[in-house]
Amino acid sequence: MTSTIILKGGTVLYHDDADNVTALKDTDVLVTGNLITEIGKNINVPPGTTVIDCHGKIISPGFIDTHHHMWQTQLKGRHMDETLLEYMASGNPQSFNYTPEDMFWGQLGGCLEAIDAGTTFVLDHSHSIYTAEHATQCLAASSASGLRLIYAYSAVSIPLTSWTKDSIMLSSDILPAWSLDQLEALATSQPFGNGRVTIGLGFDFFFLPREIIIGIFNRFRKAGVKVITCHVSKNAVCGTGSIVTLLHEYGLLGPDIVLSHATGLTPDEHALLYSAGANVSSTPTSEAQMGLGWPVALHSGVHGSLGVDSHAFCESSILSEARTLLLLARQEGNLKLLERGEFPQRLVARARDAFNLATVGGARALGMEGKIGRVRVGYLADLVVVDGRSPAMSGVAEWDPVVAVLGHSSVRDVETVIVDGVVRKKDGKLVAVELEGGERLGWEAVAEKLATSREEVQERIATVEVGLAKKLLMGMWHIDESKIKAVA
Ligand SMILES: [Zn+2]
Repeated sequence: MTSTIILKGGTVLYHDDADNVTALKDTDVLVTGNLITEIGKNINVPPGTTVIDCHGKIISPGFIDTHHHMWQTQLKGRHMDETLLEYMASGNPQSFNYTPEDMFWGQLGGCLEAIDAGTTFVLDHSHSIYTAEHATQCLAASSASGLRLIYAYSAVSIPLTSWTKDSIMLSSDILPAWSLDQLEALATSQPFGNGRVTIGLGFDFFFLPREIIIGIFNRFRKAGVKVITCHVSKNAVCGTGSIVTLLHEYGLLGPDIVLSHATGLTPDEHALLYSAGANVSSTPTSEAQMGLGWPVALHSGVHGSLGVDSHAFCESSILSEARTLLLLARQEGNLKLLERGEFPQRLVARARDAFNLATVGGARALGMEGKIGRVRVGYLADLVVVDGRSPAMSGVAEWDPVVAVLGHSSVRDVETVIVDGVVRKKDGKLVAVELEGGERLGWEAVAEKLATSREEVQERIATVEVGLAKKLLMGMWHIDESKIKAVA
């Protein structure tokens, strides 16, 4: 039997076709199966319907995260004080020290932390796949979590064959044939997780010959990957060559491309992306911390969206990223005038612009506009209910519910999360997940498993020398050491 849920008497954040958001007070939202089927006042409640009382609460589209590395849960807290160069040696290569089982718990923990914060859809750039089983376990965990997710299958950024205290060995097989075959098999047999989990491609290997890159993009587009995502940032660590120009010259840019960061680019490079319909995922916290420059998602001429990047170095909240983005965009705009002794007439962006990046912008970037990102009849039921009467939200929720959600709410205020018509967070608590085989695990049990896995991963990490990975990376990426300076 098709399940029905009614969200009763809430304030609905309703996007019109031009992306303007209005607040519909005392409004019900009916969910039938995985779709929003009615929005209105005093909707008749069909028998057997689950009723969620939303008086004093705000009903928002679920938040969309277009760049995240879900496997990194066991690395949480290790990287908050690191630049990109430091993290690329100490954090990024650590899937070497993950067993497939560690991947499962890391991925599940990452997905559940995202749901807890109101994220309903993630583009997961999984640059961690040492064995086919690593990917299989990530997919199984993604399916079990209940999250909507594009699993962007990716070979390991710095693939190692050995790593100890004394030596490190880079694999000569950057894109192993088994991984390309597995990706093709997954792309042709998707979706998974009742249709929520689909397959993408993560690709960061632009040093490879032109024919190989074109061949890979064509092969997996043909196999049906939903999105191709690549890290792009121009600086002294990532290099100053133009990946955007390369993609353009190879004829590979298109609306199914999501470039994470896209910082340090020239206006011409951004124009190429924009005219091709290619998308950008700004991850403001990680970009500011890691030394990647000003985030660009709120700049004009950018098809923008938002990502967390990694919950290993910041909280997994798209709203938090939206706030940070707004702040940084304003600081960037203001500084241009302040440095000349002038003063801004008005701020460069509005709260609603950031809110839209977290919702409709994300849907657009992931090719799901018209299906997701708005509370609209016929859309997939990915919804978040935010408490409007908590100490933080009282007052502001009545004044402007969009500003309340965007600017004042925290994870604590995210009361209910529905993904694909299924309640995944209820009364402020995550609902138990069901593993393949039917075992049900509440969050406390997942946390136990994670604690054990984290300890084991940390024990293995203690047996490798991070300095060796840094040296290897410096050579591999041709980083000029004289350009790495102390901040004055
Ligand atoms: Zn990333």
